[in-house]
Amino acid sequence: MYDIIIIGAGVIGAFIARSLSIYELKICVIDKHIDAAMGTSGANSGIIHGGYDAILGSLKSTLNIKGSNQMKKVCMDLNIPYENCESLVVAFSNEEKKVLELLKEQGEKGGIKGLSIIGGQEIRKLEPNLNHDITWALLSKTAAIVSPYKMTINALENAAINGVEFFREYEVLDINKGSDIFIVKTDKENLKGKVVINCAGIFADEISKMVGDESFKIIPRSGEYILLDKSVGNLVNRVIFQTPTKEGKGVLITRTVDGNLLIGPDAKVINDKTLHETHRDVINYVYQKGLKTTDKIPLHQSITTFTGVRATPSTGDFIIKESEKCKHFINVAGMDSPGLSSAPAIGDYVLNLVKPMFSDITKKTNYTLTLPNKKYFSNMTVNEKKQAIKKNNQYGKIVCRCENVTEAEIVESIHMTIGATTVDGVKRRTRAGMGRCQGGFCLPQVIDILARELKIDKKEVQKGDKGSYILTRRTRV
Ligand SMILES: Cc1cc2nc3c(=O)[nH]c(=O)nc-3n(C[C@H](O)[C@H](O)[C@H](O)COP(=O)(O)OP(=O)(O)OC[C@H]3O[C@@H](n4cnc5c(N)ncnc54)[C@H](O)[C@@H]3O)c2cc1C
Repeated sequence: MYDIIIIGAGVIGAFIARSLSIYELKICVIDKHIDAAMGTSGANSGIIHGGYDAILGSLKSTLNIKGSNQMKKVCMDLNIPYENCESLVVAFSNEEKKVLELLKEQGEKGGIKGLSIIGGQEIRKLEPNLNHDITWALLSKTAAIVSPYKMTINALENAAINGVEFFREYEVLDINKGSDIFIVKTDKENLKGKVVINCAGIFADEISKMVGDESFKIIPRSGEYILLDKSVGNLVNRVIFQTPTKEGKGVLITRTVDGNLLIGPDAKVINDKTLHETHRDVINYVYQKGLKTTDKIPLHQSITTFTGVRATPSTGDFIIKESEKCKHFINVAGMDSPGLSSAPAIGDYVLNLVKPMFSDITKKTNYTLTLPNKKYFSNMTVNEKKQAIKKNNQYGKIVCRCENVTEAEIVESIHMTIGATTVDGVKRRTRAGMGRCQGGFCLPQVIDILARELKIDKKEVQKGDKGSYILTRRTRV
């Protein structure tokens, strides 16, 4: 019997698990995918928003501002790549400047520091590659960029080290509530729990419906991106947004925390929540929108495209509360942007909802909120590299040449508490396969290492989700 069952191993489920994991509670996180961060948390812009654009007093605004204030420390504690790179919202007319003024005013009322409106000359000093018809910009000093999948995986790793169990490939099919106990029916087994927390992202309305709560709908809105090579990552120094409209924040251009250039997303309501493909016409639209900000986008340097799906709530705001229809069932739903920026604050917010549900909740005597300090090999100094190789000669073997990922890092990623079990799992933890060749060179070696470390046949190694086997048979003996 679990005290708490968390449905969904995205960034929200992971940070809630982390916040709860320091208490004497038996907790599990379950996800239908083979790994954490395989939903929206694995495909977004990776921006920690300044917090000025959500309506003041809404949960989105409050939790974005709190989350963004916590983020630097959280990322340091959990080895999550983070860079306080700042952002600009650019305006092309005096009409748009008025929107910037409203955003600034709203942000300042919310207590956000470091907001200012700057003119053309200063903009071009900060960002020489932006188009010259940009006349004004809102500068936000607190905006930052992070690695969204590392953020999710490392928060869940922290929770797992504190004793939270993680069940992969457990799809929730139904939930029954007895007098006091939930039976969460999955395709593997039935799990019993006293409290259920619904963090199922774009499927949160369907999970909520299982306990008779249909008070909200999730409207899936896709966003497609173009990712460009690291060699052009410095086209911009900050996150560059266009002035927001009713449709959202619009197409942005940013360097990612790993050094690539990212352009996107569009925003389109879709019917099928399971579709994650990209489309030629949408990618072209994203490119054209990006050109409005800078006509210097080197499209020939693009290395991949991808789609993320927003869980837009029918209510307009984050839904974080105990269901009115079902006691001890907490919905954490409608987590569209700025869900990532808010995640640590959402963890604490949900902890406060959970505490009164248990009469004698006490802290564990032995817990941690930090992960051992670890640097990517590629970020080490020459001396640090030498030391690492001396301790473990697997650091001396580069497997992914684009990203300089060593065999030691891949082996470590497989043996984490919530270790990688697939090629994509290794990629999200180490960056092997994320570079210019997108795994073209390192894939065979990563398969070998996974098979060796997991003690499975190479044919059993999967790329991503269920059934994504890579090798089928020998073609040459
Ligand atoms: C295009 C785009 C750009 C964005 N950019 C930003 C940004 O720059 N900054 C920012 O702050 N936010 C951004 N966001 C929002 C942010 O990505 C989300 O708020 C966040 O990732 C939501 O996390 P989650 O854990 O709620 O959902 P998910 O990451 O989707 O996790 C939900 C999990 O539930 C699991 N699940 C669902 N149904 C079941 C079931 N039946 N059984 C078991 N498991 C189930 C899924 O497999 C999934 O892993 C963006 C979103 C999109 C789409």
